[in-house]
Amino acid sequence: MDAFSEMNDLGHEQVLLCRHRASGLRAIIAIHDTTLGPAIGGVRLYDYASEADALRDVLRLSRGMTYKAAVAGLDLGGGKAVILGDRSIKSEALFRAFGRHVASLGGRFITAEDMNTNVEDMNWIRRETRFVTGSGTSVGGSGDPSPVTAWGIYHGIRACLEVVTGTPEVAGRTVAIQGVGAVGWQLARYLHEHGARLMFSDVNGARLKQALEAFGGVVLEGNDFYRAPCDVLAPCAIGGVLNPRTIKMIRAPIVAGGANNQLDDEVRDGELLVASGITYVPDYVINAGGLISVAGELHGWSREKSMMDAEGIFTTVKRVLDKARAAGVTTVTASNRVAEERIAAVASVRTVRAPGG
Ligand code: NAD
Repeated sequence: MDAFSEMNDLGHEQVLLCRHRASGLRAIIAIHDTTLGPAIGGVRLYDYASEADALRDVLRLSRGMTYKAAVAGLDLGGGKAVILGDRSIKSEALFRAFGRHVASLGGRFITAEDMNTNVEDMNWIRRETRFVTGSGTSVGGSGDPSPVTAWGIYHGIRACLEVVTGTPEVAGRTVAIQGVGAVGWQLARYLHEHGARLMFSDVNGARLKQALEAFGGVVLEGNDFYRAPCDVLAPCAIGGVLNPRTIKMIRAPIVAGGANNQLDDEVRDGELLVASGITYVPDYVINAGGLISVAGELHGWSREKSMMDAEGIFTTVKRVLDKARAAGVTTVTASNRVAEERIAAVASVRTVRAPGG
């Protein structure tokens, strides 16, 4: 893999290789674009098959963060970090060494939890740098972002219902939720409180039982989630769930849920959904509440303000769906354009020189 040409193709500013012999740290930090503000992105611990795979992943994920922050209207850029290895290498020294590399970037990169990293790991990083978020409330962090994420998804679903059916009301609508975890549970709660009927799918039987007790509704086994006779399918579990095999089964007119990377192939599956007459809300647009919560932590905003900002996802989703219809493109292409237009507009403003600016 030619790192420079890959960075060039994807538009990256900087990639940092980090090592620390004593703790066994091998990490890559990718800064994609800082036009809007410091690059933000989680640090993922993963045992990649090769260094090239790790580099490819961190380049792809950091670019995704640029788009997510831009569409959410935040003054943040896109970045990501990966630590190469499995959970057995976790230690205080490893995360503090990583923290010192983050510190060396002087605020150009701000990190957070991601796959295989947690609040305790962030607390080690915080001992070395203030450029880390998502740490526990006991050390000044914003805590669990999932209620804000789910609130944004709830409003994104309302926006989509308005565009597709003419009214945003969820009362009397049926929503099928895949994954009743942190996000899915909160989403179910908001929908239930507003009169929606619910259907649930989860690989965790105990969690399903709890959901039925709390909200009532119907359980969907296996592929029945995709075939669910409902108004909205809300994937809130894992990525890659929208592919030619599953899209063929979908009967719902709307797919709008919080899971990251729902499309197995962004172009192929985005177009297949359009051809099947299904309105898909891009995951990174509708699940931006998590990032809004993290931004709130950076700026010292209250949870109430983050919840209000997450309601803005209603307007963003409408804008993306309208743009897709008007331009005859997929909703993913439309949201990418919204992000690119905002970045270009802000970049153009920067030509005006202000004192100290
Ligand atoms: P979680 O681990 O709390 O919940 C995931 C749930 O999905 C669990 O109940 C699990 O049993 C279930 N599940 C796993 N595989 C499944 C499958 N094949 N079919 C059905 N159910 C399955 O995770 P979470 O924090 O709720 O996140 C869910 C998704 O939302 C992830 O893709 C995550 O990246 C994304 N997301 C989360 C946040 C957040 O604030 N937590 C923010 C943005 C995006």
